[in-house]
Amino acid sequence: MVNTVLVTGGAGYIGSHVVKLLGERKERIVVLDNLSTGFAESVLYGELVVGDVGDQALVERILREYEVDSVMHFAAATIVPESIADPVKYYTNNVCASNALLGCCRQAGIKQFVFSSTAAVYGQPAGGIATEDTPENPINPYGRSKLISEWMIGDLCSATDMRSMILRYFNVAGSDPEGRIGQSTIDATLLIKIACEVALGKVDRLQIFGTDYPTPDGTAIRDYIHVNDLATIHLLALDYLREGGASSTLNCGYGHGYSVRQVIAAVERVHGSRLNVVESSRRAGDPPNLIANTDAIRKQLHWHPQLDDLDTIVSTALAWEEKLLAGME
Ligand code: UDP
Repeated sequence: MVNTVLVTGGAGYIGSHVVKLLGERKERIVVLDNLSTGFAESVLYGELVVGDVGDQALVERILREYEVDSVMHFAAATIVPESIADPVKYYTNNVCASNALLGCCRQAGIKQFVFSSTAAVYGQPAGGIATEDTPENPINPYGRSKLISEWMIGDLCSATDMRSMILRYFNVAGSDPEGRIGQSTIDATLLIKIACEVALGKVDRLQIFGTDYPTPDGTAIRDYIHVNDLATIHLLALDYLREGGASSTLNCGYGHGYSVRQVIAAVERVHGSRLNVVESSRRAGDPPNLIANTDAIRKQLHWHPQLDDLDTIVSTALAWEEKLLAGME
């Protein structure tokens, strides 16, 4: 019998795309989300329980009542600049809550654990490209909070028969190609979202944070991955663990990057307008260049990206912003 998958943060941006794919293949799903940044209407499948991951009595009840055997843990605070301004929030939400969840998992004998980690655990890798063996050296509280969580998960896997897949996301962007869900975060700080908001006149200008980086055009380079391709990775990871695969850590990106200026050019191309752009100073905690080496995930999970194209990413992001805008009118 296939048991239920608990998806924490399943009402959020990435979690909701994973719930969509799990639902489409008829998995039993329970979502736990406190709706602090997520939206109930983004949960397209399964049952939604509104509550905190750190609430152990609630989590214990969910694990028992829904016969959960696999946990996918997305719930977290995820904004680098905010983590610098308010580190306690990040250690509380990301480290303390994860530890509480792991305590419940141990007690319930959870066998499979898939964790949303981040390329921010690498900080600035030499040469800008990170393999999974690149030494971790986070340069902001967000990255540190995720790295501590990785260690906690690894230690629990060593102590029990739980196995984990730690997925280190690079820059996630775009939205459901069918337009049902997307990045709805209020006051988002992510480049592609803001650039789309500027294109649609929701925000009056886009700041480029740093034009003096040691990159070809002076702006920072990131590896942008479409959220649907990232969501697919989670299903492959779950299957891998269910088939008895060993605990692993894998980078999630495409293996190539774009600069801030290249992203702006893509939004201008797709939308067919010029963006109001201003050049600003560097943002604290930003590495100049962060790209995934993706050999391991392609080999281990047999993953093949379907949407590896910047204009496709931008057009789905733009379509979602248009939908949000129409809903506000
Ligand atoms: N960025 C920018 N203007 C913005 C938002 C982001 O120039 O309004 C830059 C940011 O400095 C970084 C890149 O775009 O170099 C990606 O930032 P984002 O916040 O999207 O993701 P992060 O890499 O911080 O996770």
